[in-house]
Amino acid sequence: MRMKVAIIGGGAAGLMATAALLEADPKVEVFLIDKNDGLGKKVIISGGGRCNVTTGIQDIKVVLTKYPRGGKFLTSAMHKFSPADVYQWFESHGVLLKVEADSRVFPCSNDGHDVVGVFEKLFKTSKVRLILNTQVSDIKKVRQVFEVELKDKPPLLVDKVILTTGGQAYRQTGSTGDGYAFATSLGHTITELAPSLSALFTQETWPAKVAGLSFQSVSLGRSGRGTFRTTGPLLFTHKGISGPAAFALSSLIAFEKFDAKHPLEIAIDLFPDKKVTDLTSSIETSKLANPRKSWLNVLAEFVPKSLAEVICQELELDGDKKSHDISKKDLARCVDWLKSVPLHIISRSAGDEFVTAGGVNLKEVDPTTMQSKICPNLYFAGEILDIDGFTGGFNLQASWATGHLAGTSAAS
Ligand SMILES: Cc1cc2nc3c(=O)[nH]c(=O)nc-3n(C[C@H](O)[C@H](O)[C@H](O)COP(=O)(O)OP(=O)(O)OC[C@H]3O[C@@H](n4cnc5c(N)ncnc54)[C@H](O)[C@@H]3O)c2cc1C
Repeated sequence: MRMKVAIIGGGAAGLMATAALLEADPKVEVFLIDKNDGLGKKVIISGGGRCNVTTGIQDIKVVLTKYPRGGKFLTSAMHKFSPADVYQWFESHGVLLKVEADSRVFPCSNDGHDVVGVFEKLFKTSKVRLILNTQVSDIKKVRQVFEVELKDKPPLLVDKVILTTGGQAYRQTGSTGDGYAFATSLGHTITELAPSLSALFTQETWPAKVAGLSFQSVSLGRSGRGTFRTTGPLLFTHKGISGPAAFALSSLIAFEKFDAKHPLEIAIDLFPDKKVTDLTSSIETSKLANPRKSWLNVLAEFVPKSLAEVICQELELDGDKKSHDISKKDLARCVDWLKSVPLHIISRSAGDEFVTAGGVNLKEVDPTTMQSKICPNLYFAGEILDIDGFTGGFNLQASWATGHLAGTSAAS
């Protein structure tokens, strides 16, 4: 009798698990179930619709450092299906890719539909039973068989289940966290869940004055402490900060509690490549060369004028004052501000986070097969697991790698 496998969730992990399972054993009877009317809804909108498929970083040790949670667990999956393997897999299936300057990998077409299209084409010519527009409502194990309950349809009886229902971020894409309940009912524990990779809101209102202003590289972290430090591009918004560096910080503080009464104090270094002494002497040189220039205009040689105005306002300095009349102490205060912009984080931008931190407890899953250690023949892959990465293609890479491993393992 042919083995029957149900893959629950047709996102990145479920798509790759299905493809890998069929590659490993074309005789398996595969049911791919999703509540949406199409496959890979989140993949299509990822990367602003361009789909940042994976990372161009080749060194797996470095790649694993991009996961605040789950990096160690991913070691085996990542070696078996590395970013280079993912790159090669998509190209060999007809999607040409490109690596951008910041190591992000995109389809040359800049269109996420092409990434999902690979799977749609593959599944048309294989024997996958696509069950779309169908919500799984429960999964039970009755002796050796899984009974997959479907809303408004008769249940499916299968030998193995691969659970790829994702997290609970961007719920409009179908990822509503249903899988956590299924995993729990099959004996698993779910770690604390939290939104990650979101913009951050500040107590300070001045970011609104510079909304839209971006910096190519800043360093930011918790004030006065070495931990929670991250670097990358940053964008000021009407309510605070966004961009890769802010997203990375949001990931590092995913489980921190803060609000308007108990804000999280952070500091941004707008000149991470310059020492305080170097920045001081650069500004001092300009000040000495332009004694009659307004202090605002001197500062505006180093940062956009709108931010120079904020500095003067925050430090209560008269920007119209001639630079000649600015004291050494005030110059030092400006340099300190630029090297350590103080902000107080009061909340995350709710509902538009990219991923869910937390998930199925990794201690309960075999990292070399993705099989449950608690419930034989149950496999997990993707964001449902307690794994999450920074922006840069790392979350999709984790889904492809764990999906590939789960699919291959379930075939054997
Ligand atoms: C806006 C946005 C942009 C992003 N951009 C990037 C990027 O460029 N690069 C990157 O690496 N990562 C990115 N991510 C993160 C990445 O997309 C996810 O981590 C990844 O898609 C997770 O894949 P998954 O297969 O585990 O889950 P999902 O993609 O969430 O798929 C889960 C699927 O399960 C289905 N499902 C859930 N419950 C049920 C049920 N009860 N019955 C039937 N079906 C069910 C859902 O409909 C869904 O299709 C982005 C995320 C967002 C929200």
